[in-house]
Amino acid sequence: MAFIFRAFSKGMDGVCIIGCWPGECNYATGGNYHAFNMVQLCKRLLEHEGVNPERLMIDWCSSSEGIRFANLIDEFSNKIKELGPLGEAEGLEGEQLRKKLEDLTKLVPYIKLAKKDKLALRFDDIERYKDLYSKEEVEELLREVPSYWIDPDKCQACGLCRRRCPVDAISGDKNLIHIVDQEKCIKCGTCYEVCPDRFAAVKKLVGEPVPPPIPEEQRVIVRKKAKEATAS
Ligand code: SF4
Ligand code: SF4
Repeated sequence: MAFIFRAFSKGMDGVCIIGCWPGECNYATGGNYHAFNMVQLCKRLLEHEGVNPERLMIDWCSSSEGIRFANLIDEFSNKIKELGPLGEAEGLEGEQLRKKLEDLTKLVPYIKLAKKDKLALRFDDIERYKDLYSKEEVEELLREVPSYWIDPDKCQACGLCRRRCPVDAISGDKNLIHIVDQEKCIKCGTCYEVCPDRFAAVKKLVGEPVPPPIPEEQRVIVRKKAKEATAS
């Protein structure tokens, strides 16, 4: 999914995915079914951002079908030529569209997590994947994007969330209250899952503003023992 959005954000006018015929996956993993399912969701997401979903295509071809492959590519190229350059044809300004697509790319872990059950559906009839995702569903998905915030009154600087964050979006140290860099965060929810229950310091916020990070000078945690040592 990220490859698709990244290609469009880099200015590609169309993205074409060609896989082995359904039922003929060499690895018996059914990857082409997963890809078809994922493309249906991507089309809806692109549509939501104002991009013509016809710019994304998925089809099938075996290694012995050279002519079919050439025809598929020709047809797709012609269609893209008809549609015109990305953004221009949609009436979207280039920089604005690039930013939208980059933001969408950053949300891929969240989208995959939120839609994991549906993305894992396996139908024998490939046609059943069509219309699997509605416009309203995608609107709701993007309206309910969570933010993860660390409550400074609860964080005990155990460092678990920082070590497990896949994109180094959490800063902190042994005695330093941890902070999430909202720009870097890809909303995977790992910090929320791993913060020990006895601290429950990571909050999942939906539809509410993220409080600003606490000032640097207030981030130091003075442990009980250290306090007692200072007092004595
Ligand atoms: S949700 Fe938490 S673990 Fe995931 S990227 Fe954001 S800060 Fe890191
Ligand atoms: S896991 Fe929880 S307590 Fe530990 S550093 Fe992260 S937010 Fe703080």
